This record gives sequence, C-alpha cells and structure tokens, in this order.
Amino acid sequence: MTSDSVITVPAFASTRSGVRHFFGTRRHAARLAYEVGAPAPAQELEGAARSSWMLSVKQVHGTDALVVDRALMSSDRFSGGWDALVTDQRGIMVAVRTADCVPVLMHDPKRKIVAAVHAGWRGAVAGIVGKTIAVMESRFGTVPEHVQVSIGPSAGVCCYEVDQTVLDKLPEAYPDYQKVVRGHRDGKAHLDLKMLIKEQARHAGIQQDAITCVNLCTICHEDLFFSYRREGKVIGTMVSAIGLAAL
Ligand SMILES: [Zn+2]
Repeated sequence: MTSDSVITVPAFASTRSGVRHFFGTRRHAARLAYEVGAPAPAQELEGAARSSWMLSVKQVHGTDALVVDRALMSSDRFSGGWDALVTDQRGIMVAVRTADCVPVLMHDPKRKIVAAVHAGWRGAVAGIVGKTIAVMESRFGTVPEHVQVSIGPSAGVCCYEVDQTVLDKLPEAYPDYQKVVRGHRDGKAHLDLKMLIKEQARHAGIQQDAITCVNLCTICHEDLFFSYRREGKVIGTMVSAIGLAAL
C-alpha cells in the first residue's frame, strides 16, 4: 500500500498487530532529516504522543546491532555506529536511512521485538540479517520461525551493477550466490541484493511466507526515491522505521 509519502506492507505488520512501520520515499525523507555522522539524539516524534520516539544512529556499513532495552530520555546520545537497531520498548520507532541500500524491517510478534536493518552489499556479504536475528534470539529469546521480515525499496537487479571486487566476496556470503547474479561479463554483473537478503533470512530460519518484499527499484523510480547510484552523490536518504505502538 502506498500513501502519499510512505509505503506500508499490511501482510508484514498490520496496525492491529500493535506494530507500526513504514518505508519512506523521497517525499517523506525531508521531514525527518538527520545530520548523518553526528551523534544522533533520540527525537521525539512530531505530533505524536510524548512517549513516542524516533531513533536513528550513524550507519557504518558494518553488522553491529544497537539493542535498546530501556526507555529513552532526551539526554540520550548514541555516538557509535550501528547498522541494525533492535528494541523491545514500546513507543520507540527504530529507523534506518537508505538510498539504494536495503532497508529491512523485522518483528517477532510472540516476544514483541522489532528491528530495523540497513543492508548494503557490505552488510549483506557480512551477514547482517542473520546476525541481527541471532541478537534477537540471544537477547530476547526470539524463535526465528516466528519472525516476520519485510525487505524495502532498494537498488534492483535491473540497475544494480557491481564489479569483481563485490562479486569475489559473494561466495562467502551465500554459497548459492549465482542465483543472485545476472549477466556476469567482463568483471561486472547485476546483483540482486533483495534476493540475497531473502535467501540469507531463509538460511537464518525465517519462514518463506513470513518474508515480504517491496519490489521497487530506487534507481528506476526517480519520482519516488533518492538514489546514490543514479545521482552520484548523497542528496538525500529515505527513512524507514518500525516500532511497537505505545500503550
Ligand atoms: Zn532499476
């Protein structure tokens, strides 16, 4: 379902489930502009209940997860770098920013845990989705079979050309990597990052029918999305977020 500025996936999480989520578009991003690289203060959601927060931190193309297991305060500062955020706290929307990389949202309806992941090729190759699920398991007792996963708009296989440096790293990320590569020629190929992440999620124990995917390419759809690849520089990012509704 597409509203004016964000995309939501009812099959992934309906509002009835107590989980709020969205994948942002470029029309939405401007209202949630963060200064990338600066220690990110937790931001109170504009116009929302006082107990609601939006948390976005510096992303470093790594695999570490920031676990937020207590209420946030205005004085909180997060000065490290994390590409996954996990929380069991109500009223906190954990957010990632992307422009071609893949925003991945997850929730465990049994244990009431949500996670937002920023996965570019580096994060995917390093196994960020499986590692984040492992954090949900070890910290909160999540069973992977219960987890719902939604893969958001990102560079699609239609446009996302990568070079041999990236291709050389794929076998360690996913033994069946040829399934996610198209048109390999002269040291270049198109990479299906969404499918790679889907396969890794399946490998981590997520059920096939628990994975939804927004099949929109950020490079193709200039009207909807910023694209680092298309623009050659960062002129903006989309914000995608998920949270347990405040009671
Ligand atoms: Zn495309």
